[in-house]
Amino acid sequence: MKVCSKCGAQNQDDAIVCSACNRVIYSQSANVAAQPITQPAQSVRPSALSVVALVFMIIGTVATSFCTFGIGLAWCLPMTISYGRNRKNGIPVSIGFKVCSLIFVNTIAGILMLCDRSTSI
Ligand SMILES: [Zn+2]
Repeated sequence: MKVCSKCGAQNQDDAIVCSACNRVIYSQSANVAAQPITQPAQSVRPSALSVVALVFMIIGTVATSFCTFGIGLAWCLPMTISYGRNRKNGIPVSIGFKVCSLIFVNTIAGILMLCDRSTSI
């Protein structure tokens, strides 16, 4: 069942124009499909530096958790995942997070994050 957006008349599913007002009917689902799904990830391109920083975050996670007998995973893993997600979605990363990454996860990753303009606020 298609409902006309102009007059509200109900039409057949395969109706192209409204039987009551002759207006072209666009079904709800067709409208959604026609609209391009815009994601912030496409507008803000993650820089190469942030990719390297993420790699060092992963290395840092493995190294820190190894040195702390797995305890480091408690903070390294959520931080790496959160950084990776923010980077992918183009969400800025706070200075505090970068400094914490530098101290608690990986020094090189933290420095790269601080140098990286694409993820800064
Ligand atoms: Zn109509």
